Amino acid sequence: MNSEISYVHPSADSPWGTYLSQVDRVVPYLGGLARWAETLKRPKRALIVDVPIEMDDGTVAHFEGYRVQHNMSRGPGKGGVRFHPQVTLEEVMALSAWMTVKTAAVNLPFGGAKGGIRLDPKKLSQNELEKVTRRYTSEIGIIIGPNTDIPAPDVNTNAQIMAWMMDTYSMNVGGTATGVVTGKPLHLGGSLGRVKATGRGVFVTGREAARRLGLDLRGARIAVQGFGNVGSVAAELFAEAGARIVAVQDHTGTIFNGDGLDLAALIPVAREDGLAGFNGGKVIDTEAFWDVPCDILIPAALEGQITAERALKTQAKLVLEGANGPTVPAADDILAERGVLVVPDVICNAGGVTVSYFEWVQDFSSFFWDEDEINVRLDRIMMNALNQIWDTADRHKITLRTATFAVACERILMARQERGLYP
Ligand code: GLU
Repeated sequence: MNSEISYVHPSADSPWGTYLSQVDRVVPYLGGLARWAETLKRPKRALIVDVPIEMDDGTVAHFEGYRVQHNMSRGPGKGGVRFHPQVTLEEVMALSAWMTVKTAAVNLPFGGAKGGIRLDPKKLSQNELEKVTRRYTSEIGIIIGPNTDIPAPDVNTNAQIMAWMMDTYSMNVGGTATGVVTGKPLHLGGSLGRVKATGRGVFVTGREAARRLGLDLRGARIAVQGFGNVGSVAAELFAEAGARIVAVQDHTGTIFNGDGLDLAALIPVAREDGLAGFNGGKVIDTEAFWDVPCDILIPAALEGQITAERALKTQAKLVLEGANGPTVPAADDILAERGVLVVPDVICNAGGVTVSYFEWVQDFSSFFWDEDEINVRLDRIMMNALNQIWDTADRHKITLRTATFAVACERILMARQERGLYP
């Protein structure tokens, strides 16, 4: 008998609620494997940890941390660690599940996992950030490892944080285990191309989708939400291909320039002072971002940004999901009805985890590849995956999201079935 899990109570538009509805939509396309579909609706393992540290002022602060291993049927758990004041268990569960689907969609030999700590990294000193990272790593050390679950960067985490995680895990096991995390600094077993990989994957899948739609990238107008590692890199690559980045939004504000923003000038300002400090565009209202005249919309920030209301407003013909879970289910239906093509997160932003896989393989073999080799392999994997998904979507007359879930869930549940239930 199947039953709902008892420890989260998702709403329809919450991350876990969104994920569950995406699974429900794919079940009719799973044939006999539908028997195993319930396995996708619950994480294999969820760990909640207390992370106490001594702050610089001598007080003791406690943070709540999570590591969720959603599914490991196809290999070790894989997925980032997020530092954000709104992180919850439910959010991390959804993010871990999207990792399961993502790694299967691009056919990497991984399952899906995710971690997070509820904190605002801007409010911590570098010393406090290091302490919280190390204590968190030690606490989740009982379930992570190079062969079991491999963390990586996500929102507000970076190569330095991965170096601390690698060092802490290594100290605890008494060796140097570079393969325990990916997204590390280059001289500590990191991979060339990893920093730009997610943005590059958004560009590669977006370029192919635009070609199939007959949308010329030269002169195409693009609006980007989120200007971190994913949004800014994708924006640069599209601009190099001749597109105009007309609007950019981040947590500090929204700017617009119909002739195209000067990215070379914008990127350093955005990094230092936030977008609002840039004078090469007009500051517009947060909500006005969603109906700016544009051809392509790239949500590259957090979940739940494209609501039903915003889906009705957008002028874009193509949505490229750089973020995880940016579109709620009701908005997905509206976009499909309006003929707006969505390249879903679980394929669109899979470039990051793909180069994480390359990094993990390089760490194990202690043999490092040059950047051309990384990029050629990345582009090939992304293109092959997208083409297969596109054919599935055409064959069943379904959205690219449901097609991606169909391809991925077939792989996951086939592995589940072949392995069999233990005992
Ligand atoms: N955090 C990234 C994602 O959401 C990358 C995860 C990884 O490289 O393991 O896909």
